[in-house]
Amino acid sequence: MRNLIKHLLLITFFQFILIGSLFANVFVVSRSTANIRELPTTASSIIQQAHENDWFIYLGNSNDSKWRSVELPDGTTGWIYYTLGRIQENYQPPIDTSTTFEIDKLEVHIINVEQGDCTLIIAIGNNGEKAALLFDAGKPGKGDKYVVPYLKSIGISQLKYIVSSHHDGDHLGGLDEVLNYTPDTDDFKISLTGNAYQPAGDPKSSQRAQYDQYAYAASAQNGQEILTLNPPEFLNLSKGLTLQVVAGGGLYIDNETGNIIDLEPSDANAKSIGLLLTFNKFKFFVGGDLGGISKQKKIENKVAPYIGDIDVLRANHHGANTSTHDPFIKIVKPEVVLISCGKNNFGHPRQKVIDRLKAENSNVQIYQTAEGDLVNRYKHLATADGLVSGNIVIKTEGDCTYTVTGSGSEFHETNTFTNDDCL
Ligand SMILES: [Zn+2]
Repeated sequence: MRNLIKHLLLITFFQFILIGSLFANVFVVSRSTANIRELPTTASSIIQQAHENDWFIYLGNSNDSKWRSVELPDGTTGWIYYTLGRIQENYQPPIDTSTTFEIDKLEVHIINVEQGDCTLIIAIGNNGEKAALLFDAGKPGKGDKYVVPYLKSIGISQLKYIVSSHHDGDHLGGLDEVLNYTPDTDDFKISLTGNAYQPAGDPKSSQRAQYDQYAYAASAQNGQEILTLNPPEFLNLSKGLTLQVVAGGGLYIDNETGNIIDLEPSDANAKSIGLLLTFNKFKFFVGGDLGGISKQKKIENKVAPYIGDIDVLRANHHGANTSTHDPFIKIVKPEVVLISCGKNNFGHPRQKVIDRLKAENSNVQIYQTAEGDLVNRYKHLATADGLVSGNIVIKTEGDCTYTVTGSGSEFHETNTFTNDDCL
């Protein structure tokens, strides 16, 4: 309990200095190398080496004023001698949004986080350069349990962008754990090199604590508050890869006029960020818990004409019956549908969703990360006959084909598909 209070106080303090004044006071290193020590004395051991233009959140001075106390990316504290850099107030860190490499290969990973969502998009360049975007990270506890080990297993230690599709716990809950990961026996460290995002609109009071932890963890990484993503913004992950925000905060792009329409939904799910990815002939859509019922102002159907005919759909809202209705399916026409789900949910995924998808395209291939909620507390029967695929990986080189690989109990292999345009 004492820890919790300490943490909450820390968050409040942090919000005051970071969000209250927008940017933090930091110590910027001005020498080519600078030792960070455990204690404010040269006799103390070196815990990290910093380089020119590295910056750390500035915490205060030693008693003799010769040493600066800084917060390291892993949350621990270190000391730097005062001549090795300078304190800068309201520092806005340089963020790489323009200099990017040309994409050569694309990977989309649907990480199995049980009931929840986690999508990782990786652009890979000709020389093996990588840029990654993490879209959601499951419920609290799942970031540590699944997402961090997964990132570690595929060697992704830098995230250029991190996006919370919306404020629900099964999407946002694990994000702070990913950002706060502290290496113990290994050197693996996760860093956010660009921005953290959320949709427009405030979290509900029940979502506030988790949101604050995400905000705290993100600003400890990049010194900024979480930014809002609105349509029609683009995220610059790499050249040749188009990532456009087509919905978010209840706004969407109207295909006929190009105008941004505000549906002003009261429903939090309807405020999910919808991302449309295009890499040459390959098109993929992921949209949190967007829905197609009146409570959600049928935002799925409205944004569908702008999305157009895609190859792969990450089914909205875990395959819930309130999403993926006929008007949406008839326009986006997916050949492959991925469902992120697990036990203990609201009856996701629903057989009716699978039936609707198959009625439109009898050849549609449906993969789900895990078995869904077979008989849930609402007494709906959720069977869903998608292939239980564990972590699902899509790979393409932007040519006419893409592959889908699963690691699950029913599907543990690779299937190859041909893009729409090449058929
Ligand atoms: Zn959800």
